Amino acid sequence: MTDHKRYSDSELTKMIHSAGLRPSVQRIAVFSLVANSKKHPSADDIFSELAAIYPSLSRTTVYNSLHALVDAGLVRGLEIDCGNRHYDLAPQPHHSHFICRQCGRIFDMAIPSGIGAAASPGFCVDSVDVYFKGSCPDCVGRS
Ligand SMILES: [Zn+2]
Ligand SMILES: [Zn+2]
Repeated sequence: MTDHKRYSDSELTKMIHSAGLRPSVQRIAVFSLVANSKKHPSADDIFSELAAIYPSLSRTTVYNSLHALVDAGLVRGLEIDCGNRHYDLAPQPHHSHFICRQCGRIFDMAIPSGIGAAASPGFCVDSVDVYFKGSCPDCVGRS
């Protein structure tokens, strides 16, 4: 999970296609940014990075592409940062996230795979989100 795979445009195109979406240039660009950056970007982060490359790209297109990718199960939204949704590649081993209260960076964290079994008897778990908050190694002791 920590060694980071880089997805080529043709791999991303194939994934978008097999999820039943039309692989438009914008969708591939948005998906590539989410899949290949380890930064868990927000929609604004994605827009500002892509606007530098595609000057005609609108914020609405970025939002629409993200919604389509989330609906198709390729990208998932993280609610870790109140009111500011971040995005991560969906098809990857289950993991949790840590947000640093000081620098705002979001890190992947491993969690025990059987954590869903902690649910009360009678409940059927199909999704678990665990968020950690605190200071990252770079910021510990810096406050
Ligand atoms: Zn930090
Ligand atoms: Zn992640």
